[in-house]
Amino acid sequence: MSESYDVVIVGGGITGASLLYILSKYTDIKRILLLEEYGSFASLNSNSNNNAQTLHFGDIETNYSLEKSRETKEEAEIVIKYLSMLPKKDYDMITKKCGKMVLGVGEEEINKLDGIYDSGLKHIFPGLRKIGPNEIARLEPNVMKKRAIDEKVEALKSDNGQMVNFRNLTNSFVKRAKAAKIGRINVRLNAKVLSVNGSAGDFNISTHDRTYKARFVVFCAGSYSLYFAKMLGYQKNLSVLCVGGNFYTAPKVLNGKVYRVQEGGIPFAAVHGDPDITNQHITRFGPTVTIYPELEKGKPSTMFDYFKTFNFDLATSASLLNILANKDIRRILWNNAFYDLPGIGTSIFLKREVSKIVPSLRPKDIMLAPHMGGIRPQIMDEKKKALVLGESKTKEDGVIFNITPSPGATSCLASAIEDMSYICDQIGARIDLKAVEGTLVNKETMPITMRKLKNW
Ligand SMILES: Cc1cc2nc3c(=O)[nH]c(=O)nc-3n(C[C@H](O)[C@H](O)[C@H](O)COP(=O)(O)OP(=O)(O)OC[C@H]3O[C@@H](n4cnc5c(N)ncnc54)[C@H](O)[C@@H]3O)c2cc1C
Repeated sequence: MSESYDVVIVGGGITGASLLYILSKYTDIKRILLLEEYGSFASLNSNSNNNAQTLHFGDIETNYSLEKSRETKEEAEIVIKYLSMLPKKDYDMITKKCGKMVLGVGEEEINKLDGIYDSGLKHIFPGLRKIGPNEIARLEPNVMKKRAIDEKVEALKSDNGQMVNFRNLTNSFVKRAKAAKIGRINVRLNAKVLSVNGSAGDFNISTHDRTYKARFVVFCAGSYSLYFAKMLGYQKNLSVLCVGGNFYTAPKVLNGKVYRVQEGGIPFAAVHGDPDITNQHITRFGPTVTIYPELEKGKPSTMFDYFKTFNFDLATSASLLNILANKDIRRILWNNAFYDLPGIGTSIFLKREVSKIVPSLRPKDIMLAPHMGGIRPQIMDEKKKALVLGESKTKEDGVIFNITPSPGATSCLASAIEDMSYICDQIGARIDLKAVEGTLVNKETMPITMRKLKNW
């Protein structure tokens, strides 16, 4: 006989684990199951080797709109609240404060920075300040060392810098979910979901050895969430571009995070440099931007699933053409086309990207790190013929699909709170709103999240 659950979560990255935690801690849902394909949690994008380890606040992400910055700030603050409840030992394993700035090089970028700062960013982030070459040199000496004397630089400096080991954060969610629940919560590793069918209240979810029954299913399977949506007949107007991001490593040359200016509306950050939270003797530069025809990076067997998900037809082609008509996207893709090539790629990456941040580095100082990097599933909306900035969430009867490019790790708890609200409404479960408000969400400072919670 198959096991029955109220909620089954597919995917044990940070999105699935944070939802497991939120449902366990703040609702009276009794039977919850999390299924993960691999033998450990956070094996893919949520693994710290594969992402940029940044808790995004929206203050130095120059491609965000002001609205997106406000929302991201709230989302990051929920993570900060969670972290503040942890014992010091756990906290130290997950996160570290650090310096953070976005660097403008040359007149055009400096004008852009000034414009963004004055148009409202300074009001959302009162601690954000403009700094010039002398202060930059004091905070990050290698950013100014060997820089041409006549090269103009300016930076926006933030006090909110926070590096996060998202894998350890994922494990912390699972551990605390298990501790919180009095009812039955199960987690199954090495449990790849192969198929799903049924409808609200009665889904069948099959792995290689079992079939589970669920009243509600949440797909937190990264790029595979869209694959399953299509399997169930949803999201026909969405397609996905899998944007790979690789990293180069160098000896320690930066004290904190140094981001570069990115064009507004582009859904991925510009190359930046920062210390690796798992090895402070290393500075990482990246991520690069390469389109892969795979749902999982470095796994050619996922290519077939990718083409099923991509759904190549007239509408997809029209969207693709429209996206490629954007000259900034074309420029980014063209520049990045060479960065992952062995040998010559290193010199080009250094010249075009790294030397803008640390001018003194030489090709022999940096190395492409083949074991690092992941895939950002960037959603193409065929109705808008455009790339969607940030995460995509679709709520249907009895099912949610979460697709999570950057800053998906930062928004994990905000996303889980929104999912909790919808799930409880659908299956008639109760939320301990007082506990949520008392610990994670603050009425006064988090109106966007509260609105999502109040919909319930
Ligand atoms: C290069 C790069 C840099 C990034 N930098 C940042 C950053 O600095 N800050 C930030 O906030 N975000 C960043 N992101 C985004 C962030 O990493 C992701 O949004 C986040 O990790 C997504 O978590 P997830 O749990 O949704 O997906 P994942 O971590 O990819 O987890 C999905 C899980 O689903 C499982 N799964 C898939 N299919 C199945 C199946 N059939 N059955 C069972 N399980 C399945 C997978 O094994 C996997 O464990 C970055 C991403 C990339 C690629």
